[in-house]
Amino acid sequence: PTASGELKRLLTEIPDFPKPGILFRDVAPVFADGAAFRVIVDELVARFAGRFDAVAGVEARGFVLAAAAAYATGTGLLVVRKAGKLPGEVIAESYDLEYGTATLELEPNQLAPGARVLVLDDILATGGTLRAAASLIERAGYTVAGIGVLFELAELDGRTKLSGYDTEVLLAE
Ligand code: 5GP
Repeated sequence: PTASGELKRLLTEIPDFPKPGILFRDVAPVFADGAAFRVIVDELVARFAGRFDAVAGVEARGFVLAAAAAYATGTGLLVVRKAGKLPGEVIAESYDLEYGTATLELEPNQLAPGARVLVLDDILATGGTLRAAASLIERAGYTVAGIGVLFELAELDGRTKLSGYDTEVLLAE
């Protein structure tokens, strides 16, 4: 299997994106490498094996991981989207960014009440995004089985916002 050193090498650092002073971690080379992509999806699934009934992905890179994980395990898929993309009845959760706020949305009533949902995204930074996604899962009447991410920017302490959730990270810095 692809070693974590190899995954770290694939995870590219892009300075000054999307704004000056931000060091962006680009997961595109990890997704583009067939062996690496399979390893990260399999590893995220393995850490929660038998403990979830569906997988939720956060727009947009979380969709990629969640779709693969749902397909690999024969479970259903939920998409947690940025505001204004989903039709019909939606529930919304807003959270603070460094400047301003962001809103995530979910279509409720897609799974049985109490369904155990694994929430996946690519990067854990401040934790606001995954905290909001987890809140949506709970407000829809489901249980958060856990939170899985490829990479954690540990110095931002996003885990504090996710205390109470079983959070699994494949790579951290
Ligand atoms: P947070 O809410 O934890 O501060 O930010 C996490 C969200 O922003 C995730 O949805 C993640 O995709 C995105 N994000 C934040 N920083 C980065 C980064 O350096 N690289 C990538 N690929 N996504 C990031």
